[in-house]
Amino acid sequence: MLQRVDVVVVGAGFSGLYALHRLRERGFRVRGVEAGAGVGGTWYWNRYPGARTDSQSEVYQYWWSDELLEEWNWTEPFPAQAETERYLNFVADKFDLRRDISFDTRVVSAAFDDAEQEWTIATEGGETIRARFVVMSTGGLSAPMLPDFPGREDFRGRFFHTANWPKGGVDFAGQRVGVVGTAATGIQVIQTIASEVAHLTVFQRTPNYTIPMRNPKYDDAARAELRARYPRLRERVNETFAGFEYDFAPDDFLALSPAEREREMERLWADGSLSFWVGSFTGVFFDPAVNAVFSEFVRNKIRARVKDPKIAEKLVPKDYGFGTRRVPLETRYYEAFNRDNVLLVDTRETPIERITPTGVRTSAGEHALDILVFATGFDAATGALSRIDVRGRGGLSLKELWARDIRTCYGMTKHGFPNLFMTMAPLSPAAAFCNVPTCSQQQVEWISDTIEHVRDRGRKSIEPTAEAETQWVAHHDEVAAATLAMKTNSWYVGANVAGKQRRLLPYAGGANTYRKACDDLKAGGYPGFTIL
Ligand code: NAP
Repeated sequence: MLQRVDVVVVGAGFSGLYALHRLRERGFRVRGVEAGAGVGGTWYWNRYPGARTDSQSEVYQYWWSDELLEEWNWTEPFPAQAETERYLNFVADKFDLRRDISFDTRVVSAAFDDAEQEWTIATEGGETIRARFVVMSTGGLSAPMLPDFPGREDFRGRFFHTANWPKGGVDFAGQRVGVVGTAATGIQVIQTIASEVAHLTVFQRTPNYTIPMRNPKYDDAARAELRARYPRLRERVNETFAGFEYDFAPDDFLALSPAEREREMERLWADGSLSFWVGSFTGVFFDPAVNAVFSEFVRNKIRARVKDPKIAEKLVPKDYGFGTRRVPLETRYYEAFNRDNVLLVDTRETPIERITPTGVRTSAGEHALDILVFATGFDAATGALSRIDVRGRGGLSLKELWARDIRTCYGMTKHGFPNLFMTMAPLSPAAAFCNVPTCSQQQVEWISDTIEHVRDRGRKSIEPTAEAETQWVAHHDEVAAATLAMKTNSWYVGANVAGKQRRLLPYAGGANTYRKACDDLKAGGYPGFTIL
């Protein structure tokens, strides 16, 4: 069956839901397509134990409806997965979004028809949709990575990737469980299930710097106080480097005395949020000397919580600096390693050799397991779109282009791909250096305004020139080169995917600077873009 609409929006997470709503409000016929059975995106798929936001709920929400802000009550600063999923369902119901979304429908290809200047979108189930514009809101962290350890198919127990967690949950009681991966996801899983399982084996390759989360429940008084701040907060998040309420201070940290430094770091630490990172000093991000002081401070915090000094040293990162990889918040994570039923296996010392029918074998021997959990991350920013066969003008393959050189124009458009828009894509802050809802809303607004611009002028297509894209990439790379993140291996630079080009995936000039650049582009009538 062929459907014809103005815009197809792929994905019904934070970005896709808003894109669908906003474009519909502007009079476009829109079709949403979602692989999951419900809305939520990340918050639909990642229902693993302990999943919750690392952004405060008051900045992890939509700002575009006063009614919504009035009606929705957050229960705590860092809500669990189920609450954020409920919120997105509430939004979908309130704005009647579901009627325009095809659920359980996976897009397999999108091809641009040069003659008609339209896209043809094909789904796994054989459906075809024709649309002038496509908005790919497929998520920056939605293409899961499973390491190809030999023997994976032989495992006779149950195994799960955290991003594909069963809806009914998993009963861990009495089970011997192994977790591979100790970053943002693995940490949440480990700290949550350590007390539920019979035995937990944690396979750690790289330890992470973390910050202890402070998450007291909100009561009515706290919520009223927050609501009173919403008008300012909705502006504030757009003024900061990373889309949070807090921001880097430009002050010279090294000019402070050792006692003042300590006091400042303790003050930030006590906030129990990512403010210790992206609300601290700009130098943490760019200056190795500042970074070294913060790194040692966090190392000592970890050491103080682990009883066995040998285990503590394994949990302390030493070969890269604080905040050059994503810093997770944690709750009693280190105390898990003080428990008798938890074993830490350092896979740098004793690498995983294979999965066996009954567990995991490292170079030091076998660990018997009933359940194996992979918290092994994602092919970030490029992964979701590379798993769809996206073809631009003359059959150009996005996957093939990105396999050689990950380029976009402002992280939302691509030369050779007219009328294709992306959210959370490479070379925008949304790809990692931003509180997602802040950057996602900014991108959706820019994209829908741009689509409207084309329609209102009676035109059919818009596409960045090769020169405009080259300029953006050069600017991106120049800013990236100044960051410490560029020098550390992580998914930020594609180091977790074999063969992936090393380029900083997020734009590091700041969400605030980026917003202004996008606004200027729009106000200037899209210089560097061809509008036909
Ligand atoms: P990740 O940061 O990519 O971490 C993957 C983990 O798996 C790492 O510990 C990695 O070790 C390990 N791993 C991967 N392949 C391995 C192998 N072959 N052998 C041994 N270990 C292996 O993925 P993630 O933890 O899912 O987090 C991804 C991002 O999602 C986060 O950075 C964050 O942006 C987002 N997230 C957010 C939240 C939140 O807001 N609360 C929660 C979860 C995730 P190496 O470090 O050595 O590669």
